Amino acid sequence: MQREYVARRIEVEGIVQGVGFRPFVYQLANRHNLKGEVLNTSSGVSIHVEGIDKDINSFCRELKKNGPPLARITDVSDYPETVKNHNSFSIAESRPDASRSVLISPDVSICDDCLKELFDTKDRRFRYPFINCTNCGPRYTIIDDIPYDRPNTSMKHFRMCGKCQAEYDDPENRRFHAQPNACRDCGPYLTLYGNNRKMIDGINPVEKTAGLLKQGHIVAIKGLGGFHLAADAENDKAVYTLRKRKLREEKPFAIMSFDVERIKRFAVIEPGEEALISSCLRPIVLLKKKEPNQLSREVSPKNRYFGTMLPYTPLHYLLLQHDFTALVMTSGNRSEEPISIDNEDAFDRLSDIADYFLVHNRDIYLRSDDSIVKKTAGETRFIRRSRGYIPAPVFLNKKVPMVLACGAELKNTVCITKDDKAFVSQHIGDLENLSTLEFFELTIRHMKRILDVNPEIVACDFHPDYLSTKYALSLKNIKVVRVQHHHAHIAGCMAENMIDGPVIGLAFDGTGYGSDGNIWGGEVIIAEHGRFTRAAHLSYISMPGSAAAIKEPWRMAVSYLYDVFGEDMRGLDIPVLKEISEDKIRFIIDMISRKINSPETSSLGRLFDGIAAIIGIRNRVCFEGQAAMEFEMLSDENTEEIYDYEWISDDNVYKILTAPIIKGIVEDIHNGVHTSVIGGKFHRTVIRLFTELCKIIRKDTDIERVALSGGVFQNSILLSGMIKALEENRFKVYTHKLVPANDGGISLGQAVVAGSAD
Ligand code: ZN
Ligand code: ZN
Ligand code: FE
Repeated sequence: MQREYVARRIEVEGIVQGVGFRPFVYQLANRHNLKGEVLNTSSGVSIHVEGIDKDINSFCRELKKNGPPLARITDVSDYPETVKNHNSFSIAESRPDASRSVLISPDVSICDDCLKELFDTKDRRFRYPFINCTNCGPRYTIIDDIPYDRPNTSMKHFRMCGKCQAEYDDPENRRFHAQPNACRDCGPYLTLYGNNRKMIDGINPVEKTAGLLKQGHIVAIKGLGGFHLAADAENDKAVYTLRKRKLREEKPFAIMSFDVERIKRFAVIEPGEEALISSCLRPIVLLKKKEPNQLSREVSPKNRYFGTMLPYTPLHYLLLQHDFTALVMTSGNRSEEPISIDNEDAFDRLSDIADYFLVHNRDIYLRSDDSIVKKTAGETRFIRRSRGYIPAPVFLNKKVPMVLACGAELKNTVCITKDDKAFVSQHIGDLENLSTLEFFELTIRHMKRILDVNPEIVACDFHPDYLSTKYALSLKNIKVVRVQHHHAHIAGCMAENMIDGPVIGLAFDGTGYGSDGNIWGGEVIIAEHGRFTRAAHLSYISMPGSAAAIKEPWRMAVSYLYDVFGEDMRGLDIPVLKEISEDKIRFIIDMISRKINSPETSSLGRLFDGIAAIIGIRNRVCFEGQAAMEFEMLSDENTEEIYDYEWISDDNVYKILTAPIIKGIVEDIHNGVHTSVIGGKFHRTVIRLFTELCKIIRKDTDIERVALSGGVFQNSILLSGMIKALEENRFKVYTHKLVPANDGGISLGQAVVAGSAD
């Protein structure tokens, strides 16, 4: 018998730690009558098996096929070994080695087994808000360092009781080496406070909280990646109060509902969306509203969608099971600041917003907002990529040098590359204040530590005033590569689609610093990872007041109208010209003609804003992109007509004239054409004109691959329409499915561009 024995060593890489991989291997080996051992290393899991060749082969096949739910194998290599005559199969001590490359699991929602126990009166963890197992629970947000062992997590402060320890030590148990394992006797617990920091006594803080929410109070609730501010979504007064206190005038609030059945009371769930919203990554999914519905109008004003999610922690389930149709669960921050994670910090920053605080004593090490996605053109599109999706890497088609990419200014993320993987951070936010900048630096330190990398190159934007650029330039002894914003957008799209250039890149964007110092954003570029050339762009127009023109789209409206009609614009019968005072308009025209604080822009985002103001949607915005978003919401996508368009060739670069479009729109307004039709026609025009341009560029260059990126592609009419039109014209179209098309995806693009630069 002994002589037929062979041995093999199998090295598995990927997300294979903290997800029940060793017990899975242990059980699998026993099923196949194999002896040997399995252990965690710094790069993954190492398995030594001995037995009959046939058994080893079927063991290997199943290993790759049937891993535990959260495992993600990226690489398996196997080597012949000498037989060591093990008596049994065992789980051995972890072994640290030189390279540390194991992937950490994202935070995932409570699993079905734990959920059953949570509501099982006979279970010892009945209603315990921190129940978890190797298949579920917190990960990334509680890790301080690798390897992922309890002493490296915020669970280090809790000593397991005898029962929990026994589960933890038993390879047959679902909680074998579940690092956050805990129970009511030994683990974290909840406490309810008033906003005066006085503890509210009572046996059951969750029940009490549900009652307070029912009465219309606002409660700050500590969750997985940070605090939420919660309010009953059916209670107008509560939601309105939350808006007022949070200084958040119109931006939609995210909501959470107990299950899909309850969501169906107020929103439509299309096929595909149900699986997305129910996945263990639990993103916020933008779902079409059902009208009428019983939720407060204040939840998501002037918007066709509700940003909806299902509960993902046991605490959420315990709260939501009380009969709420939905709770508003918006990030626990003051506007523009990062989400609170620390109890003290939450009291400091949120006590004039929340009436009560439901907190717990398990620390969050790295904040992570909820992710936001939307299904468009059959694919999941990220608006914000954060909790649940990080720190899973984007796989690249080749190895690149170690780069730290610092991202853009708004919706900032950072990215670190290691071999053929790009690790894009969680959503950091708008780098406009000190606390966000601190979070940015903390995230970089944290990622360098848990990925065990020391970048050779730092990448940043061209914009000299971005805090991310300043940070990159302040680093010593490291090569700096500055990457043009729209090159980064397109390169990010190429990278996640694993293609090299050249491609025709359509960068439809709000703001990006151009190579000529102007503000770009309606760009057609020919791009490779290492370089790009500009092939076409919207003609330049003044942005009177610079940043003020973003906050006040009426300024853009005046700029476009003045560009086309000059002084004659005063005679036009257009709402915006009557709503804004004569003096102000005069002042803006003066700024434009004397070129005072009026940078030139080719931004498509500004064109959307300007037209939105011209057709009377809004003159001022409360958040970036609001006017353009409302413009999309009211546009009739079935409109077939288009406006005239025109471009001129200047030094081999096509300049797209906006004047014929503006003229057409003004004419329609005078003729009383409905705004939904004007909106539809404008979308159709943009799609048609860029498709035609791509055809001309294809003729010139033979390039038939088109990559789409930039924040304006969050517009679903434009994204689906552009894909359709290009495909009908036999282009191969590449779009974002792994990172956002907005500036959240910039760091990925910067990283690959900098990694390819010589
Ligand atoms: Zn579980
Ligand atoms: Zn315990
Ligand atoms: Fe951008």
